[in-house]
Amino acid sequence: MRRLILSAFLLVLTVSEAFSQAAHVPLTSARAGINFFSPQQDIDIGNEAAHAAAKQLPLVRDARINQYVQAIAQRILDSSAVNRNRFLFHVVNSPEVQSVALPNGAIYLYRGLLALTSNDAQLAALIAHEISHIQYRHATAQLSRQLLVQAPTSLSTGFPMSEGWKDGLVKLGVVFGVNAPFLHYSPEQESEASAMTAKLLPIPVPG
Ligand SMILES: [Zn+2]
Repeated sequence: MRRLILSAFLLVLTVSEAFSQAAHVPLTSARAGINFFSPQQDIDIGNEAAHAAAKQLPLVRDARINQYVQAIAQRILDSSAVNRNRFLFHVVNSPEVQSVALPNGAIYLYRGLLALTSNDAQLAALIAHEISHIQYRHATAQLSRQLLVQAPTSLSTGFPMSEGWKDGLVKLGVVFGVNAPFLHYSPEQESEASAMTAKLLPIPVPG
């Protein structure tokens, strides 16, 4: 999720069709593109990124806000087939209208983004959208695209599944912070995440 699509996204939230009852949706990607990484590498890369995020992002410590976000997230996780244990939710103390989903399951919702939501359903939609990016492994799909451009010959040797792949990525200039290019998703990935969002939501939209 990025700033530019937010207003359109919130508009969609008012369309009741997008708020079907929660379902156990198939959690595989049809359109995310080729992915050279393993699911374990999603965790490892996400953990690297989370280390960077811990240094980059000031978090909201207000227990009421964190508990509210957690409660909404829990309703989504409880009613879906996703592995709830991998997800961790943070509220970033910044007025930016922004959200970040790391491939290990860490989700960062910025205070500025939360301020634009006016009910539980809208917050649930934002959270479900980020969960969808993680489920579809969009970040490592983007990183795979990056490798295809930057290091196509290394892929023929089995990289990045080989030993030392992390050092290999660093040598290629891959950064793991919250502004990493691989955390910027393609329009196809955004629409794929939005389609799954509707299926994940347990909360019918009011009105
Ligand atoms: Zn998105």
